Amino acid sequence: MQFDTPITLALSKGRIFRETLPLLAHAGITPADDPETSRKLILETNQPQVKLVIIRATDVPTYVQHGAADVGVSGKDVLMEHGGEGLYEPLDLGIARCRLMVAGVKGAQTGAGRLRIATKYVNSAQRYFAAQGKQVEIIKLYGSMELAPLIGLSDLIVDLVESGNTLKANGLEPLEHICDISSRLVVNKASWKMKHPSIMSLIGAMREAVDAGSATN
Ligand code: ATP
Ligand code: MG
Repeated sequence: MQFDTPITLALSKGRIFRETLPLLAHAGITPADDPETSRKLILETNQPQVKLVIIRATDVPTYVQHGAADVGVSGKDVLMEHGGEGLYEPLDLGIARCRLMVAGVKGAQTGAGRLRIATKYVNSAQRYFAAQGKQVEIIKLYGSMELAPLIGLSDLIVDLVESGNTLKANGLEPLEHICDISSRLVVNKASWKMKHPSIMSLIGAMREAVDAGSATN
């Protein structure tokens, strides 16, 4: 595949970059550098018109919303917090799969009062407990949520769970499943119109790779 319009793709380092690579390869895109070893934030690719910008996972929807990137790959958890304004979300890539869950100290009874919930997913947690008709106090954290109930900062946490090993190692247990999470392709709304053929080709090729991958799972 040959891209004839400039396309900027926003990705985060780590698992999203690693798991997106084979999908991009199927679209004929190979980065010129490895973001894990390079300090570059803008990566050229084998396609003269396609570049990658490497940013924090939580910043991906913001770059795409404002058109600083035409396309991005973002976890559904991040998209639910962002709200998805200014974005299309045409494709579930099925990568970086995990679950958003409520967890707490193993065997602990939660009292009758207003529950304190520590989380980085303030909006998702708020919505989940509101839908249950529960009054909660949300405490915003930026990481290491597992610590909060251990030292009495909160009664429960809302966090991503993959294997459950991190919870277990800290004496916590998963309690309620809020939703399944995977990464999504997001597209800027103006780019969708202005660069339609290129973006459709990219989505089509990535969809083929996703379908081929899920058929073998
Ligand atoms: P940082 O760790 O630098 O603070 P981050 O937590 O936003 O940033 P990652 O840990 O790379 O970045 O997570 C990126 C995305 O991968 C998340 O938004 C989520 O969708 C997904 N993810 C996070 N943790 C897991 C996990 N344990 N298993 C599978 N997917 C995960
Ligand atoms: Mg992380």
